[in-house]
Formats: sequence, structure tokens, C-alpha cells
Amino acid sequence: MRPPLFDKNTYMDQARALLAKFNSRFHSAAKVYRAPGRVNLIGEHTDYNDGFVLPAAIGFSCWVALAPRDDRQLVLYSENFDDSVEVNLDDRHLHATGKWSDYPIGVAATLEQAGYRLPGANLYIAGDVPLGAGLSSSAAVEVSTAFALMDAARHPIDLKKLALLCQRAENEFVGARCGIMDQFISCHGRAGNALLLDCRSLDFQLLRLPPQIRLVICNTMVQHKHESSGYNARRAQCEEGVRKLSKVYPQMRALRDISLSDLESHRSLLSEVVYRRCRHIVTENARTLAFASALRSGDTAALPQLMTDAHRSIRDDFEVSCQELDIMVQLAEQQPGVLGARMTGGGFGGCTINLVEASASDAFCERVAQGYAAATGHYPNIYVCEASQGVGMADAS
Ligand code: ADP
Ligand code: MG
Repeated sequence: MRPPLFDKNTYMDQARALLAKFNSRFHSAAKVYRAPGRVNLIGEHTDYNDGFVLPAAIGFSCWVALAPRDDRQLVLYSENFDDSVEVNLDDRHLHATGKWSDYPIGVAATLEQAGYRLPGANLYIAGDVPLGAGLSSSAAVEVSTAFALMDAARHPIDLKKLALLCQRAENEFVGARCGIMDQFISCHGRAGNALLLDCRSLDFQLLRLPPQIRLVICNTMVQHKHESSGYNARRAQCEEGVRKLSKVYPQMRALRDISLSDLESHRSLLSEVVYRRCRHIVTENARTLAFASALRSGDTAALPQLMTDAHRSIRDDFEVSCQELDIMVQLAEQQPGVLGARMTGGGFGGCTINLVEASASDAFCERVAQGYAAATGHYPNIYVCEASQGVGMADAS
């Protein structure tokens, strides 16, 4: 499966197709908005440790067609779920119900709570980000809905604030613990670029990717059950590390604040497991900054080792990889034209990210798919992506 291409005509075709569907459901004109999913190139589990991440927006997107109404009803239809939900924005008891609609309703409720009055609206939502695959379809639906509602209300849009409000909606309304990375990159992505984000200050820098490189995402098609308990346990272990180390480093607020030699000097304060969790975060921050420097200076030769080290660290020190991810990475590293391979996302299944020369990408997909199917019995989905643009209104004229 290939993501949509990013030329204007393809966007326009998709926007027009969505308008036609909106019209046959709601019988009016509308505006069309789009926000992308994302893939993280390096910097895993560093976001909730105030650290650095380096994601790129991808061509898979969530599309929203919206027309404001005269009342305060929000009428939402998701093509992906073939389901319609209606709520009133004056309802002070809006809450999560465990359905897909928690995400867009959560966004609307959070914007209103933050003081942005919104009009009622009809929304037609259609996404091509694979759901639940770790490519952040959730951020794509949140950011596209938030942008569309803010535009309909004619509120000026500050993308940093929008990302934070979408994260708040996911944390507080939906009830899912997530960092700021997904919403931030969905807002700020730029075609052809990755983005280095400081998750503490939210300062960011766009970094041009080598144009001949494709972001090839291999979906293992497995998601092991302990994903969310594993995530919560890792967060708790990182917090324990900070609590213990801050006895000798009183200024320390997060693992971001210490170097590897600081950590090594006070290793005895930590249990063996907590030490290894901390070592992953501290070294991963350093690798992410080194990766950014290599992109800045065009030193692509430095990338493969950084990705290999990142995978080893998350596998051995952070222990959130799994057999399927390790097999996928090993297979990728054996292929020609590969500038790095590692697991991406929370772990325990999901996807790997591979930097692959465009000319080698077809052979890469074929060989990795065959090798992975032979080794695991699962046929992987492989997506060949390019770094894409963040949220915006799509021209359908
Ligand atoms: P991921 O973000 O990795 O894709 P999540 O579990 O965080 O996985 O988010 C997936 C959820 O986001 C879906 O189950 C659904 O509730 C919501 N969602 C994403 N895209 C859409 C869409 N196009 N229409 C409706 N809901 C969507
Ligand atoms: Mg998500």
C-alpha cells in the first residue's frame, strides 16, 4: 500500500472526492482540511522524560470536511467506522464513551474549555492513516478536527497551542497517556523535512532529509497485550530514576538533565533495572541530537550506526522491543540501500522505520516482506513514505 502522493493535484482530487461525499450526506458545501500521521525516526520514550524526539509527518492523513451550522449541534460522521454521532456543545456533561468519537468530541470540548467558542458543525471524517498501527491516526483526527473547528469559528490559529490542546484532549477527555510529539508533528510537519523537537521547551527545528531517501515503515502486524501496562511501568521506572538521582542532583527535574557520566557515577543509587531504563533515555537523547547534527551537516554515513544503537538500546536496556520487531530490523539491515533500521513507537509490536534509498525501496519491500512472512507466519504491511506537510486547509477549487 502506497501513501498518497503530495502533489497539488492529488490533494485536490482527494479534497474534491471528500466534498462530494460530504454533499451527499449533508447537502451543503464545505471546506476540507487535512492533518498527517507521523513516524518517529529516533528519540523513543524520550518525550515524557522532557527529552528530544525527531519525527516526520507522513503522507497518510486524516481528512475532515466541515460546514458550520446555525445551532450548537456537532454532527460527526466517520467513514472509517461508518458511524454517525451527534452532541450539543452546550452539554456540560460531555464525556468519553469508549468510541471513536471520543477523539473529535474531546477536541471540541477541550477547545471550548480553553475559551474558544465554537459554532455547531457537520463534519465528514475520512482517514487513511492505518488505525492503531503506531502511525498516530489519533493525532491526525484530533489535529484535523481542531484546525477545522478553529477555522470555522474564525479564531486565529497558533499551531503550538493547538497541538497542546489536542494532547490535553487525548490525555484528559479520551484518557490516553501520550506525550506531545504526535500532535506537534501533525501540526508542524514540513514536506521533505524531519523535525527535532525539544519536548521540554517545545523549541523545534526542521531538518531537511536527503531527497533520495524514503521513509519505509514495516508493520509487524502484531501488538502484544502488555503494551499499556509496559508503557506505564516504564514511565514509573523513569520517575523512580529521577527521584533517586535528584538526591545528588537537586536541580534535576527529568532524565534530560543528566549526562551518561553523571548516571554512571551514581549507578549504585538505582536498581539494576531502573539504571538500564535511565541509560536508554540518557543515551537516546544523545543519539537524537547526534542524528540531528548528521542531518544538518549532510553526514548520512553516521545515520545507520545511530539507528542500530538506538534499536539495541531500546531492546536491551528499555526492553520494549519484541521478537517480531527484532526480526524485521535484522532483515532490513541485510538489504542494500538501507541507511538505518529500528523499531519505532511505543514498542511490543507495531512498526519499524527504515531509511532506504528510493532506487532500492521496491526490492527492499519485497525481500523484507518475504523474509518476515517466512520467519513469523505474518505477512507485513509495508508503507513507502516521504516526509509530508503538517495540518492545513486543502484546496478543492
Ligand atoms: P494510533 O494513533 O496509533 O493509530 P490510537 O489507538 O492512539 O492508535 O488511535 C486510534 C483511534 O483514533 C481509533 O480507534 C479511533 O478511535 C480514532 N481515529 C483515528 N482515525 C479516525 C478516523 N478516521 N475516524 C474516526 N476515528 C478515528
Ligand atoms: Mg495514537
